[in-house]
Amino acid sequence: MKDETCIFCKIANGEIPSATVYEDSDFRVILDLGPATEGHALILPKNHFKDVCELDEETAAKVLPLAAKIGAAMKKTLGCAGFNLVQNNGEEAGQTVFHFHMHVIPRYQGGPSIVKWECQPANADKLAQTAEQIKSALS
Ligand code: 5GP
Ligand code: ZN
Repeated sequence: MKDETCIFCKIANGEIPSATVYEDSDFRVILDLGPATEGHALILPKNHFKDVCELDEETAAKVLPLAAKIGAAMKKTLGCAGFNLVQNNGEEAGQTVFHFHMHVIPRYQGGPSIVKWECQPANADKLAQTAEQIKSALS
């Protein structure tokens, strides 16, 4: 299923050109136009899913193996020391394009510090209460 108004649908399906590093019947993997580091790639399903909650199970099962394959290729060819997988869901979480995508971001020795947060002290009672809240929606 495609969304006529979605730029990532158009890119994933080849209607808009992109620097493509991989393509199969389900996905296109492209280089990000505003890379965090050299080689920053985006895994785009060819079908339209707004975010990870909409992704169908069949597509979802293929995303991580593909991300591992792309990351391994980056380590081999770009000389990065590692890579981050980042996947934003919702505006508050930093999602700006509402077509599911997984970022694969190469990390180089001495490179910029990205994908970082400050740890807050946790209270055991509060942790237990929060765990119960999440659990209640899973059963
Ligand atoms: P988000 O913030 O939604 O997780 O990530 C969207 C990413 O898509 C950003 O890193 C942005 O640079 C990238 N991006 C947005 N529009 C385009 C585009 O037209 N082409 C490519 N290659 N990347 C894009
Ligand atoms: Zn789309």
